[in-house]
Amino acid sequence: AGGGGGYGGQQGYSEERNSARRVADHYSARSNQTLEERENSPIIHLKKLNNWIKSVLVQLYARPGDCVLDLACGKGGDLIKWDKARVGYYVGVDIAEGSIKDCMTRYNGDADQQRRKKFSFPARLICADCYETRLDEYLCEDAPFDICSCQFAMHYSWSTEARARQALANISALLRPGGTFIGTMPDANVIIKRLRETDGMEFGNSVYWITFGEEYNEKKFPASRPFGIKYKFHLEDAVDCPEWVVPFHLFKLLAEEYDLELVLMKNFHEFVHEYLQKPEFADLMRRLGALGDGRSVQRHTIAR
Ligand code: SAM
Repeated sequence: AGGGGGYGGQQGYSEERNSARRVADHYSARSNQTLEERENSPIIHLKKLNNWIKSVLVQLYARPGDCVLDLACGKGGDLIKWDKARVGYYVGVDIAEGSIKDCMTRYNGDADQQRRKKFSFPARLICADCYETRLDEYLCEDAPFDICSCQFAMHYSWSTEARARQALANISALLRPGGTFIGTMPDANVIIKRLRETDGMEFGNSVYWITFGEEYNEKKFPASRPFGIKYKFHLEDAVDCPEWVVPFHLFKLLAEEYDLELVLMKNFHEFVHEYLQKPEFADLMRRLGALGDGRSVQRHTIAR
């Protein structure tokens, strides 16, 4: 991994650390939902759609026996997807202690119900800031990985250039040559377009809203300051914390500095449209019940 260059407009170090802590505390505090709570969630169809997208990505890129590094793994909601792909080894890393605990419980099975371990691959779970820590120092015995995944979380690295670079340096250092990185994050073009279409500094609906600070009231985002463009994201029953806009063309350029070459980039609308044409994925969508009444899909894919 290389890494020179540089853009202006960094946030102060401690402010940026506080933001990372806020994100960690937010996710740590979210308890595991029961199946009933999950089914009653106002965003259940969105959750199912997101799961469908991640399942398709895993099925497209994972091969039996692969070593997987899951950055920002959360509560381990994707363990089952990796198991279905018959991967050989899994390392999950997340900044939120509570999520790592839940992930461990999910992996080991629930002691109360005396369920046996249900995953066929060995796993290691680590609590760390993926965008600040040099993970190769922790994971030298586990690397190289065939696949590195970072689902719905890469944008948390974009608070400063240093963090974005550390994220990419970790991915690059830990993947084997020819290995694959798969990630999902909000679509900056859609967010900025929506912001410019609205009168104030906030847009959304009854389920989600995005709020920008007054410092952006001109709704201009100079190319010279592409990091640290913060907004507050609220998604009912899921998220309420700061996030950062990731201009994708810059993400691609920065990734190239770390020897990562773009293979595929799609907005969720395009992705769903394209992969729903394939019978096996359409069947999976039906089984997950992800389309619901159709409105939920429309709602959230506007921004992701
Ligand atoms: N990837 C999981 C999934 O798709 O179910 C979780 C996604 S959740 C929307 C975002 C996750 O990113 C949270 O678990 C949060 O703790 C994690 N996260 C945010 N910033 C992080 C950081 N700096 N290092 C590691 N994990 C981070």
